Amino acid sequence: MEKGLKPMDAEQLRENAHKMVDFIADYYKNIESFPVLSQVEPGYLNKILPDSAPTHPESLQNVLDDIQEKILPGVTHWQSPDYFAYFPSNSSTAGFLGEMLSAGINIVGFSWVTSPAATELEVIVLDWFGKMLKLPEDFLSQGKGGGVIQGTASEAVLVVLLAARDKVLRRVGKNSLEKLVVYASDQTHSSLQKGCRIAGIYPENCRLLETDSSTNFALSPDVLSEAISKDIAAGLVPIFLCATVGTTSSTAADPLPALGKIAKGNEMWFHIDAAYAGSACVCPEYRHYIDGVEEADSFNMNAHKWFLTNFDCSLLWVKDRNDLIQSLSTNPEYLKNKASEGNMVVDYKDWQIPLGRRFRSLKLWMVLRLYGLENLQNYIRNHIELAKHFEHLVAVDKRFEIIVPRTFSLVCFRLCPQHDDQDRCNKLNRDLLEAVNATGKIFISHTVLSGKYILRFVVGTPLTEEKHVNAAWKVLQDEATTLFGRF
Ligand code: PLP
Repeated sequence: MEKGLKPMDAEQLRENAHKMVDFIADYYKNIESFPVLSQVEPGYLNKILPDSAPTHPESLQNVLDDIQEKILPGVTHWQSPDYFAYFPSNSSTAGFLGEMLSAGINIVGFSWVTSPAATELEVIVLDWFGKMLKLPEDFLSQGKGGGVIQGTASEAVLVVLLAARDKVLRRVGKNSLEKLVVYASDQTHSSLQKGCRIAGIYPENCRLLETDSSTNFALSPDVLSEAISKDIAAGLVPIFLCATVGTTSSTAADPLPALGKIAKGNEMWFHIDAAYAGSACVCPEYRHYIDGVEEADSFNMNAHKWFLTNFDCSLLWVKDRNDLIQSLSTNPEYLKNKASEGNMVVDYKDWQIPLGRRFRSLKLWMVLRLYGLENLQNYIRNHIELAKHFEHLVAVDKRFEIIVPRTFSLVCFRLCPQHDDQDRCNKLNRDLLEAVNATGKIFISHTVLSGKYILRFVVGTPLTEEKHVNAAWKVLQDEATTLFGRF
């Protein structure tokens, strides 16, 4: 061993990175041989790894052997074609290459000057994407708006909530925090509640308005209006409405045009969370789900969910970037520079919570360039067709029922024994979920809607084909038969 560490030797990088790429390519070749949901017990790794870090270097091969034997058994394979749980979190060759390049050059692009290309590419790619979604021009960078890549939808909703809070506090006085009210449906992702906690919104002022099957679990404009009127009458100040297109439980789409009008009429910030379903809206036939985005102040979707861009890459557009900047900018001496002082550039540190940020636009740029819009649209369409196919399979088996009409690539369904009570039915479905996931052959997840325990089947991984959907249905049917036998 040569004396002295050489942590970045170009030739060593070349050799080892080739080995790592081979390892990953083999992983993808064999991905169907693993149980989709990891079957290890809690604490399994502690038992098989040493209890302190090595003093001397080990070979890459030793580490790769440990990954194969010790780490992969504890991995749940999100990229498996037999993964149908939660929402997808896509990887792709293009996304991976972009991620690799970003890790390779490893800049920290908080201000324009720290890597001009990182900021400028992000502005351009977000404008491209905004145009693909046919967002109103106000959201693009030429005017007062613009896009930014956040880590997650949770960070996106938090930063716009902070901007909305501060905008209102500037108007009504900074001692009014306790009066500020935030509205959303009870189907809204829990990240909004977390955001409210962080933003100091009083918990009793978070209105998660009830939905039910009469609106397919979308927020009713009448229910919203009534809640706002009540709050105003009580001396409270409505500040923020979060609507969702593609709710987490059942992909409900809130009626944006009507909700947006109410929000605007009450001088509230209107945010749209399209974390999962936003990807579908690049297809002209699904774009109507975001009609009404003209009324919004901010719009968010996760390219890292269903758009072939490796985690993390959450796209946020705002109509007025100054709202974000007024809440989030800091200007310490040690970061001052000519370009920023001259107001000539975007400094993304002022649009987000952390200071440091990765060169994430590279991977989205690679995805857009290496695949092209037409292929990306067909990718989404194919998943929706496969979900329709699954829906049909469920519908013809009389032991099952579809719970809400399918909108995108999620099917919500459950076993429904005739003349049975809700508790027993819920237990039966919980048992079915456990049995199915314990096979390791597929992984699905669940939710509860109006007291009903429901199984969620989402088509959305890049490797999923019709044969995987058919095989998954067979697993579900077989496990249902076994359970019914015992029921
Ligand atoms: N919003 C919706 C509708 C979601 O489905 C999810 C996660 O699945 C989120 C927000 C949170 O996403 P993130 O993990 O990017 O914060």
